[in-house]
Amino acid sequence: MKIAVIGAGIVGLASAHALADDGHDVVVIDREGPAAGTSRGNAGWLAHTDIDPIASPKMLRQVPKFLMDPLGPLTIRKEYFFTILPWLARLILASRPGQLDQSIAAITAIQSLAMPAWTKLAKQLGIEQSIHRRGALFAFTDTDLFRRTLPHFKRQERAGISVDYLDASEVRQMEPGLSDAIIGASFFPDAAHVSDPHLITLALYESARARGIDHIKADIVAIETEPNPALLCKDRGPIYADAVVLAAGAWSKPLAAGLGDRVPLDTERGYNISFPGVTRHLNRPVSFQGHGFVSTPLDTGLRIGGAVELGGLKLPPNHDRTRAMYQKALGFFRDLPAFDQGTVWMGHRPSIPDSLPVIGHSRRSRKVVYAFGHGHYGLTQSAATGRIVADLVAERAPPIDLTRFSPQRF
Ligand SMILES: Cc1cc2nc3c(=O)[nH]c(=O)nc-3n(C[C@H](O)[C@H](O)[C@H](O)COP(=O)(O)OP(=O)(O)OC[C@H]3O[C@@H](n4cnc5c(N)ncnc54)[C@H](O)[C@@H]3O)c2cc1C
Repeated sequence: MKIAVIGAGIVGLASAHALADDGHDVVVIDREGPAAGTSRGNAGWLAHTDIDPIASPKMLRQVPKFLMDPLGPLTIRKEYFFTILPWLARLILASRPGQLDQSIAAITAIQSLAMPAWTKLAKQLGIEQSIHRRGALFAFTDTDLFRRTLPHFKRQERAGISVDYLDASEVRQMEPGLSDAIIGASFFPDAAHVSDPHLITLALYESARARGIDHIKADIVAIETEPNPALLCKDRGPIYADAVVLAAGAWSKPLAAGLGDRVPLDTERGYNISFPGVTRHLNRPVSFQGHGFVSTPLDTGLRIGGAVELGGLKLPPNHDRTRAMYQKALGFFRDLPAFDQGTVWMGHRPSIPDSLPVIGHSRRSRKVVYAFGHGHYGLTQSAATGRIVADLVAERAPPIDLTRFSPQRF
């Protein structure tokens, strides 16, 4: 079959490989080119050990404190306040106990597929050296917060995820670059990170081209399904295929809506600063708990980033946030390069209020498969999503129950 994949981000490219493995003739379409979207500059964690949805009582408890600080870990741009309200209402509903338990079960299920799928894909493409398996630290500056977070770590342990608890001196031994502000940490030995998210997305693209997967630069404005799938483009004629995969990240909503699927997709904008060539500060990724940002020792340099800004797809970035994050990070490292030596970036997490991606057939036609909305975990879950997409296209049973991922669940 000829399969058209919309989106050359990490999810679209991983799907393209899985479909090519099944013998399909695959074309990847992107309006800009590979790694042009959110997959370009994320934090690079393969965070399969995380099983907490963003919508949780833990997060909601912190919201008032966060919103008091206009440059803090969570903000709503005032121009976007009324637009985001329905999404926020859904987020609150998704954090009710019954819903929350179901979301955790579904996240745990897809996360359990993530590393095996990445391991297989990396081996197949010969890029195993791009995956670093040195674990990750969740560092604390506050004993009370550690005590309150402990039940979450215990839940991870019950899910079979290894966690070690480190005091300040043990953290210092592992990460001499961190300052005395860190009073302890939870260590997830099985977490991993990639060499650089941009480079690994490009590696998937280059290897896709090498195995005969085509690439077309086109801006898709609509998907038609009758009599057969056709992609209508802004500035060229239609592209025809036997089946379509929609993996356009945070920009997928109008294309799904055109097929009758009203998916509550919005974006959590995230910010970071990267210091090219700076590689001595950390050995493994660190999440600074209660401060809303992480740091990753990428092969290309140190990256510090995170935060959630609800501001849609069109507003310009506000890099005062990046500066505020950097200022806070200065207290957590023994030394950091000056802000002006870094490169700033803002990206659009494709986010669904229940923290679960949309993976499933469109309402209108089984010839269209959706794979978007991975929020904070698109890199982590991309290889597993690709395998599931291939199962859906082939009408094979996927390895996990997809009810909670259905585009029609809302
Ligand atoms: C600050 C930050 C840190 C993050 N850290 C992590 C992390 O450590 N680990 C992790 O797992 N995840 C992380 N994420 C999330 C992760 O980056 C995303 O979930 C993931 O990149 C989404 O990939 P995607 O392929 O779905 O979308 P994208 O990478 O955005 O790709 C979508 C592509 O579709 C194309 N496109 C859109 N519309 C059209 C159209 N109409 N026609 C043609 N092409 C179109 C775009 O040009 C783009 O190339 C982070 C995100 C941010 C913002």
